[in-house]
Amino acid sequence: MLGVVIERSRKRAIVILKGFRCRWGRCVFCPFFLEAGNSLSDVIQTNDKILSLLEDATLRFSIERITVFNGGSFFELPLDTVLKLSRFTCGRIVDIESRPEYLSFDSVRQVLELLKPSRLVIRVGIEVWDEYLRNAVLCKGIPQSEIVRLNALREKCREVYGDEVSFIAYILFGIELIPESKVVESVEELSKYFDGIIAVQYRRVLDSLPSEAIPSRELILYLQQKCVDVDLKRSDESEWCFTGEVRYVIAD
Ligand code: SF4
Repeated sequence: MLGVVIERSRKRAIVILKGFRCRWGRCVFCPFFLEAGNSLSDVIQTNDKILSLLEDATLRFSIERITVFNGGSFFELPLDTVLKLSRFTCGRIVDIESRPEYLSFDSVRQVLELLKPSRLVIRVGIEVWDEYLRNAVLCKGIPQSEIVRLNALREKCREVYGDEVSFIAYILFGIELIPESKVVESVEELSKYFDGIIAVQYRRVLDSLPSEAIPSRELILYLQQKCVDVDLKRSDESEWCFTGEVRYVIAD
């Protein structure tokens, strides 16, 4: 889905922008290419539409946090879209997503200068701590050394910016390729390197993608206790997932 989702109770706008196909593009579970743009004009025009919905939301609702998704890394968005987005981010908490290779002290500084958020939360999809599962099975392309490097970057940002910048790791569960014991291990290990963990339940949106696994109640309870957020699959999602349609959803 592309568009804007307003969570009124959390004073948050989730902005799902159109991006280009992720440059890595090899993760075996990834469906984001389904909504990727084919041309710069397509991406910019669709994002203009989405940002006009965001403008409406900031006028109508109290929005303290803007969470940005673009089906890839924030750094792969056109500058045009980032500059237009910056009209809304100043003074608000902003979440962005990125693969590790785009993240350096300079790139973080540039995002802070452009978006001027009150707090920047950088979310990185690590998916699973176990390196064999992550790279040989899921084809994520993130060596353990990158996790160590991100941890050092997090510490440098902490020294310079204090609480203004934080790093969160995504982990994946509910997929046949990752046993529940490895999900628990991911939470335990990655908590040592990041400021928090967001657990995302896998959605199989194409027959060619790996199968889902029904997570146990124990695992879900564990994740709800240990993670800053748990993104659980809802029964109505398949109606609007990856249609390319721009939507404006106002939720409580
Ligand atoms: S890095 Fe993210 S967007 Fe890119 S292929 Fe992997 S899951 Fe998909």
